[in-house]
Amino acid sequence: MQRIPSIKETHDAFLRSACESLGYDQQTYEVLLIAAREVRVELPLRRDDGSLVVYNGYRVQHHNARGPYKGGLRYHPDVNMTDVRGLACLMSLKTALVDIPLGGAKGGIDCDPGSLSERELETLTRKFVQRMHRLIGPNLDIPAPDVGTNAQVMAWIQDEYSKIYGYSPAVVTGKPVETGGSPGREEATGRDVSIVIKEYAHHCGEKLKGKTAAIQGFGNVGAHAAQFLFEMGMRVVAVNDVRGGIHDSEGLPIDKVLEHFKKAGTVAGFPGADSIDNGGLLALRCDYLVPAALGGVIHRRNAGHVQAKVVAEAADAPVTEPANQILCQRGVSVLPGILVGAGGVTVSYFEWVQNLQHFRWTLEEIEQRLHDKLVEACRAVFELAKDDKCSYRLSAYQIATRRLKESFFAAGI
Ligand code: GLU
Repeated sequence: MQRIPSIKETHDAFLRSACESLGYDQQTYEVLLIAAREVRVELPLRRDDGSLVVYNGYRVQHHNARGPYKGGLRYHPDVNMTDVRGLACLMSLKTALVDIPLGGAKGGIDCDPGSLSERELETLTRKFVQRMHRLIGPNLDIPAPDVGTNAQVMAWIQDEYSKIYGYSPAVVTGKPVETGGSPGREEATGRDVSIVIKEYAHHCGEKLKGKTAAIQGFGNVGAHAAQFLFEMGMRVVAVNDVRGGIHDSEGLPIDKVLEHFKKAGTVAGFPGADSIDNGGLLALRCDYLVPAALGGVIHRRNAGHVQAKVVAEAADAPVTEPANQILCQRGVSVLPGILVGAGGVTVSYFEWVQNLQHFRWTLEEIEQRLHDKLVEACRAVFELAKDDKCSYRLSAYQIATRRLKESFFAAGI
């Protein structure tokens, strides 16, 4: 059986086809692909039971010609240098596509946050900052939440960094509003999913009311996406998380599912809905399939089962390159993650600007600015795809790659 390509392989293949279609040579592709700096640190942790574990912490700073390095910190047992490299480059493309003055980076720790106590998580996070503080900073590299991290983790980073450098809210984004975070940041990626889907429907001349969506993953992104799609009048027919999935072809009452999730810690067992496994959810007949969890979930072996008309990538690299080809051949539109997943970093940018100015914007201002940025990016992607008769993935990658290349070469080699 063939193994599923890594996030890095998926990302490299998409960047390569963008470079080829832009007529860039191999050297240019490599210059754009390879990160400026990669760091691994050792993180020993004394567990609450007295035992000792050693984790690895990573940070890859891909490119900063357009602005400081920027990207999330992921806590997950599968975190490794190779994938962090791919994810860092993906961040450079996201920031370039929505045209914000930031570069790209990514990092993480290969721990399972669910198995650590609050004290253990805090100690590990602070240790990461002790090892990394010279390499991050408001004008250098600005971490943010990602899979397995949240506002609390960012608050610990901010506090540990501020002990050394003085009050520095702009060193991280996605922190709690109480410590300088921005309203609208937490739900930003989920909101992005709904804005892009709405813009896509508008582009196709379709109405969204009553259209169906299935959402894989009910973390910060998936849960917010479900909520916003539901509020737009779409029928969210299935959602799932690691513990199980639920299905109702009439549409799930997402407001009630959210209440159930808060109490039970899972969507599974929601009264009145059928249960559905992950493979079943990905193969559901629906208008929009939204993979909002981890990378590589739609691959060569299951891409033929997807019956959705549109796949909106809310996670990083959920569709592998061979799967992407299969979906394209079968006429499934894929809205790429560098567009659908760029809302988080866009509001991070607004948060960072507010911190640098020591000034607060209202939630309405942030939502309006996010909307404007994303609609502009969507229109550019849809237009280029139409003009060049290419996929949305290729048009998005072309726009971002060209911007990246121009800034990179303008800055000087
Ligand atoms: N982790 C999110 C992403 O990968 C947000 C990054 C950020 O806000 O810097 O897009």
